[in-house]
Amino acid sequence: MRRKLVVGNWKMYGSLASNQVLLDSLVHGLCGDRKADYAVCVPHPYLAQAQSILQGTNIAWGGQNMHQLEGGAFTGSVAPHMLVDFGCTYVIIGHSERRELCHENDPLVAAKFEAAVKDGLCPILCLGETREEHEAGLAEQVVARQLDAVLACMGAEGVAKGVLAYEPVWAIGTGRAAAPELAQHMHAYIRNRIANLDRLVAGRLRIIHGGSVRVSNAAQLLSMPDVDGALVGNASLVAEQFITICRAAN
Ligand code: PEP
Repeated sequence: MRRKLVVGNWKMYGSLASNQVLLDSLVHGLCGDRKADYAVCVPHPYLAQAQSILQGTNIAWGGQNMHQLEGGAFTGSVAPHMLVDFGCTYVIIGHSERRELCHENDPLVAAKFEAAVKDGLCPILCLGETREEHEAGLAEQVVARQLDAVLACMGAEGVAKGVLAYEPVWAIGTGRAAAPELAQHMHAYIRNRIANLDRLVAGRLRIIHGGSVRVSNAAQLLSMPDVDGALVGNASLVAEQFITICRAAN
C-alpha cells in the first residue's frame, strides 16, 4: 500500500507576511493528520521561514529547483547541500516551466536527480507532454524519453529514491485537468515501464499527479489506483483549498 503524498508548489509567489499566514493555517488545518504525507516547495529565500514554522509538524518542505553541482561560480544558483542545510526533504526536479523556460534538457534533469539523491534529498521528478505532443499522440513516447534519461543513470532502484510526478503540461495552470481515466492510464504506463525493470520497485514507487488539481477534482483523481498523490500549484496558495486537497488524499 503506497502512502499518498500531496505537495504544494508555490512557484514564484509569496512574501514573508503572506507565507506566515498560509503556513500557520496549514499547520493548524493538517495537525494530527497522519494518514498521508504533505509538503510545500517554496521559493529559496523562504526556506528558513518554512523550516522555522514547519519543523516538528507533519508538513515537510522543499525547494523547487537546484544546481547539479555542490558549488562553483554559478551566480544565482543553489547547491543541493544548501537545501539540506535548511532541512528540506524534497526538491522538485525538471518541472515543465524549467524545462521550457530555462531550457533544462533530459541529461541535465537526470544529473540534478542524481545529485539530489546523493545529498539525501527526495527529488520529485516531473514528467509530462506538451499540448502539441499530446494532440500528436506522443504522450507516452515523451514521458518514456524523460523517464528513461533518469533510469539510465540511476536504475529503477535509484529512481525509487525519489517520487515521480506526471504533469501533462497542457493541464498546468490552465484549469483543464486530465480526466481521471487518462491520468490513470499514464500513471499505469509509467509504473509498467519501471516494472519491466523491477516489479517490486515499481510497486512501491509513488507517482503523484499534477496539472490543475483543484478542490473540485482532487478526490476523483486521487481515487485512481496508480495516482499516489498530487503536485498542486495554484490551489496550494490558498490554505483552505490546499487543506481540502490534502484531506482528499486520506
Ligand atoms: C505545478 O506547478 O506543478 C502545477 C501543477 O500547477 P497548477 O496546479 O496550478 O496547474
